[in-house]
Amino acid sequence: MANIKHTLLELKAKLDAGDLTSEGLVREYLDQIDRLNPTIHAFLYVAREEALAQARILDQERAAGTLRGPLHGLPIALKDNMSVEGMQNTCASKFLEGYVAPYDATIVKKLKEAGAVILGKLNMDEFAMGSSTEYSAYGDTKNPWSLDRIPGGSSGGSAAALSAMMAPITLGTDTGGSVRQPAAFNNLVGLKPTYGRISRYGITAFGSTLDQVGVFARDVRDCALMAGVLSGVDPMDSTTADEPVPDYLAGLTADLSGIRLALPKSFLDGLKEPMKGLLLHTVEEYRALGATVDEIDLTFAHNALAVYYIVASAEASSNLARFDGIRYGRRAENPVSARDLYTRSRSEGFGEEVKRRIMLGTYVLSAGFYDAYYNTALKVRTLIKEELRRVFTQYDAIIGPTTPTGPRRLGERSDNIIDEYLNDLYTVPANIAGVPAIAFPMGFAEGIPMSCQLIGDYFSEPKLFQIAYAYEKAHDHITRYPEVATL
Ligand code: GLN
Repeated sequence: MANIKHTLLELKAKLDAGDLTSEGLVREYLDQIDRLNPTIHAFLYVAREEALAQARILDQERAAGTLRGPLHGLPIALKDNMSVEGMQNTCASKFLEGYVAPYDATIVKKLKEAGAVILGKLNMDEFAMGSSTEYSAYGDTKNPWSLDRIPGGSSGGSAAALSAMMAPITLGTDTGGSVRQPAAFNNLVGLKPTYGRISRYGITAFGSTLDQVGVFARDVRDCALMAGVLSGVDPMDSTTADEPVPDYLAGLTADLSGIRLALPKSFLDGLKEPMKGLLLHTVEEYRALGATVDEIDLTFAHNALAVYYIVASAEASSNLARFDGIRYGRRAENPVSARDLYTRSRSEGFGEEVKRRIMLGTYVLSAGFYDAYYNTALKVRTLIKEELRRVFTQYDAIIGPTTPTGPRRLGERSDNIIDEYLNDLYTVPANIAGVPAIAFPMGFAEGIPMSCQLIGDYFSEPKLFQIAYAYEKAHDHITRYPEVATL
């Protein structure tokens, strides 16, 4: 218990001062995982022996005076759709049960080069489709703040592991909000960087024009450090941007003078209490801290949700075609023909939500419907991008809620799938436009965390960190921990 409640940067200082060894720290996290994972079920795979062996090597290197990089000896846990050589990569699907990644994703390579220790792989909605982690083929993850509630999704394991102190930092992927929404439900900072900022090589694709790797952190400074380690152009992912990576952490200030925020009126329409009151309170606090906040009208951004479910499903149907029973993972027994092999492998291997997305995506791409749905969605996507660009010529960021409500109870999924999709109302615009967004804690309602979101212009991560940090410094929300984790 002594160390696991610290932030990553606090742990780094302790390692640097010689007050702590990497092995000792890894053991503390493994103990916490042993104690809490049976209840919370955030980890699908605990890399116990690998992590201890790696920590020992890193301790020896440190004793000999060599540091690999800024994360030397620090543990991290990863969503189970990120390839780590020699570890499972199931995407929480039966299809990939037993599949072991034969290579490291670029981000994993970068983490290893920076000296990180990988603690294991985290639960998620199957193939990252969902907002609750209830679509995992390996069982639900519970929200450490309230064990009968969802942790959010699709990166629910990443959020629950961090908030329950089973890791000091975690990674997820965000196609439509899968980092920011679970961060919101767990009192964490969650960053979805600019499209192209971080390589996706080695990460199982869902919606290729939307997917980004994102960071879950206890605070903004940890998030800035980790984003810096992961960012940068990668020859293995041609969608990465050849833009310089600033030192996010060194450049971080909490100065709000001259900062202009835009609050879209449509974000307030229909927003219920207690979220609405907390958001308006946060806006007032931003004003008190020196920022200007104006209400603005947006015409197209509220269509982002419809655009998202067309585009993401279309891309998913194409990306998931590779799961054919031949190349990876599951293969149906005794097929009588190639068609039978495909059909049975896919019917048996995929869960209900993944099948729904594949069918929806195939439908919107099919001859006769392509223009009505997919092409129209692309046109609206352009309008949304242009609209946000116009906003960012006058404002530093858009402020709003991360989610319409707090986390619902486990198992209380509505029969109407649209209700589930409406969760993503405020998070999808950033993915549709490809711009960065950050979620951060703005307080609690009856013990349940509530979250504020900032959306910025392309590559404006430094500004988003700065604006979020100014609020964070003025509050103590991040110093609260779920009771279950501190027993
Ligand atoms: N909840 C959204 C969906 O189900 C977002 C998922 C994600 O970002 N991976 O598609």
